[in-house]
Amino acid sequence: MSQNRTDDHVDAISVVVPCHNEEQSLPLLFEEFERVAAELAPARVEFVLVDDGSADATSEVGRRLAASWPGSQVLTFSRNFGKEAAIFAGLQHAKGDYVALMDADLQDPPALLPEMYRIIREEDVESVATRRKDRAGEPPVRSAFARLFYRMINRMSETELVDGARDYRLMSRKFVDAVLSLGESNRFTKGLFSWVGFKTHWLEYANVERSAGSSQWSFFSLARYAISGITAFSTTPLVVASVVGLVLCLVAVLALVFIIVRWAVAGDPVSGWPSLACMIIFIGGVQLLFLGVLGQYLANVYGESKHRPIYVLDDCYTSAEGEGDEGGRG
Ligand code: UDP
Ligand code: MG
Repeated sequence: MSQNRTDDHVDAISVVVPCHNEEQSLPLLFEEFERVAAELAPARVEFVLVDDGSADATSEVGRRLAASWPGSQVLTFSRNFGKEAAIFAGLQHAKGDYVALMDADLQDPPALLPEMYRIIREEDVESVATRRKDRAGEPPVRSAFARLFYRMINRMSETELVDGARDYRLMSRKFVDAVLSLGESNRFTKGLFSWVGFKTHWLEYANVERSAGSSQWSFFSLARYAISGITAFSTTPLVVASVVGLVLCLVAVLALVFIIVRWAVAGDPVSGWPSLACMIIFIGGVQLLFLGVLGQYLANVYGESKHRPIYVLDDCYTSAEGEGDEGGRG
C-alpha cells in the first residue's frame, strides 16, 4: 500500500451488512465469519450491521452476535428505507482501513473475503468486486429482464454496469470516501461504484442460493429499481423522446404535402376519417409516453431538491471498543 503506516498497524476490515428481516440469516453469517476471521488475521474484522426497518428481531439478534466483535456497530433505521440507504449508512459509519459490503443471506460468500483482501493489498487496485458466473436458480423471466436491463443501460449510459455484478465488494478507504462524496438521495449503488472509477479487480463465482428467509425483491420492485438506475445514470430516454417527436413531425409534414399535391393534381376529395383517428391516437400515445419519461426525470429532480436525509436512525449500538486487544476477540 502507498500509505505510510507504522509497523504495528493492524488493518481493520469493516464488514457492512444491510439487513431487512434477517434474524434467521445473521447467526449463519456470524458462524461463517468465525472461520473467515482466522484466515484474515492479523487483520481485525468489525461489523456494521444496518437494520433496515425489520419487522423481526434482526436488531436484537445482531447486537447479541456483534457484542463479541470489538468495535462493531448495529444501526437501526426508524423504518424501511431500502437497501441502497442501508448501504450508505453502513459505509458512512464504517471506520476500517478496508470496507467490505455483503448481503446477510450468505449469497455473497464470506469465504471469498480472504482472497479479496489478498488481492487488494497485493495488486494495484482500490476495490475488489464480484460477479456471478451464471444466473442459475433464478426464474428465467427475471434473468431475461435482468439481461435486457444491462444491455439497455450500457448502451445508454457512460457509466458501465457489469452484468451479474453483485454489490459484494471489498473497498479501500480512498474508494469508500469517493463513494460517500456523492451526495445524491436517489442512490443506485452499482452505478455509483462504477462512476467513482479507480482500478477494480473482478472475481467470479457460481451463484449461491439464499441461506434462510426469503428474498425481499418482487418483480415490480426490481422493475422500479431498473428504471431508477436508468434515469439516474442516463439521459438517453430524453434524447429518444426528442428524436421520435422530430421524426413524427417530419412524417406529418410529408403527409400534408402529399395530400395537398394529390388534391391539386388529381382533384381527389380528402376522405378517410378512420386513418385520421388512428393517427391521432398514435400521436397522442407517443406524447403521453414521453411526457411520462420527462416526468420521471422531473420526479428525480424534485426528490433531490428536497434534500431529505437518506435515512433516519432510531438507534445506534456499538460493541466495546477493541483498542486494547487488537487482533483477538472475547
Ligand atoms: N435488504 C435491505 N433492505 C431492503 C431489502 C433488502 O437492507 O429493503 C437487504 C437484505 O437483508 C439482504 C440484501 O439487502 O441482506 C439483499 O436482499 P435480498 O437477499 O432480498 O435480495 P436478492 O439477493 O434476492 O437480490
Ligand atoms: Mg439475497
